[in-house]
Amino acid sequence: MPSTSPSPFLHDVLIIGGSYAGLSAALALGRSLRRVLVIDGGAPCNRTAPASHNFLTHDGTPPAAIARAARAQLAHYPHVELMSGQVAEVSGADGHFMALTNDGRRLAARKVLLATGVTDLLPELPGFADCWGISVLHCPYCHGYEVHGLPLGVRGNGDLGFEFARLVRNWSGALTLFTDGPSTLSAGRQAALGTAGVRIEEVPLARIVHTAGQVAAIALADGRDIPVAALFARVPFALNGLTAALGCALTPTGHVAVDEMSRTSIPGVYAAGDLTTPLRSVAAAVGSGNRAGAFINHALIAEELPG
Ligand SMILES: Cc1cc2nc3c(=O)[nH]c(=O)nc-3n(C[C@H](O)[C@H](O)[C@H](O)COP(=O)(O)OP(=O)(O)OC[C@H]3O[C@@H](n4cnc5c(N)ncnc54)[C@H](O)[C@@H]3O)c2cc1C
Repeated sequence: MPSTSPSPFLHDVLIIGGSYAGLSAALALGRSLRRVLVIDGGAPCNRTAPASHNFLTHDGTPPAAIARAARAQLAHYPHVELMSGQVAEVSGADGHFMALTNDGRRLAARKVLLATGVTDLLPELPGFADCWGISVLHCPYCHGYEVHGLPLGVRGNGDLGFEFARLVRNWSGALTLFTDGPSTLSAGRQAALGTAGVRIEEVPLARIVHTAGQVAAIALADGRDIPVAALFARVPFALNGLTAALGCALTPTGHVAVDEMSRTSIPGVYAAGDLTTPLRSVAAAVGSGNRAGAFINHALIAEELPG
């Protein structure tokens, strides 16, 4: 028996993920008179940070307030619809994609933009998750200025640990590199950090001593507490399952591969924001979404008026 339920309205673009990248793309597309549906699960990666920094005009603003201001501005564009929800599946092909939400809604669109960000995989270390975004920090450009000159820590090892320690030392000369086990830095790099005044601590971490997310010290497995005002740490990430289900090609760093026009390897599927790059910032996500919005509009224009 054929289904009698009506086909869902065919939007020009379905944007999955309505944070900085997705909303920025929606602005470019709404201003291009495109019928856009943005669906968002409401869990941006920076939601634990009390303030977001390094985004011009919003330096020091709570992350949610930036998104609220963006949504308020998008409300002026009648072609842009914002919806709360979680997309569970995307099927179809260029020109007619169909998305299914967790609560059973069906959404149809000619093009899809993935702006779903990444999920940070926090270590089991006690206190780490409580402090994430408050005083355990992923990026000194975002949060280094607020703790400059104070005793800081970096959690990392090997080449990446060296690079991160070298970076964070720009903000504080009182720096400890916690390798959380035997150092795998080369002897030369270990010596270079030592000459620069960076302490290397190889004893495994036991927990992060904190009050309401504000770190006081790093407790080591041998019972010592090393006082720090903040700990910088890079953590692994996971992509949303949609990208794997769609079959999007990935970069060597595990991000969704996009070309210079924000296209993924799947025709009609575009991507913007954190899921496409290790260089994570609100400004970068907004820029990436803005570009994706324009390129999607160009693709639609070319289909409508081939030349
Ligand atoms: C703790 C922390 C603090 C940070 N602080 C700063 C800072 O001070 N300054 C700065 O510039 N940058 C900061 N960043 C980086 C910045 O937050 C990110 O670069 C930016 O949020 C990326 O934007 P995005 O839109 O790509 O992804 P996100 O902001 O992570 O948003 C992704 C959105 O997609 C939604 N989503 C995911 N899957 C689905 C689905 N299946 N269906 C529907 N919706 C879905 C999520 O719910 C979420 O709302 C910080 C990052 C972290 C982790």
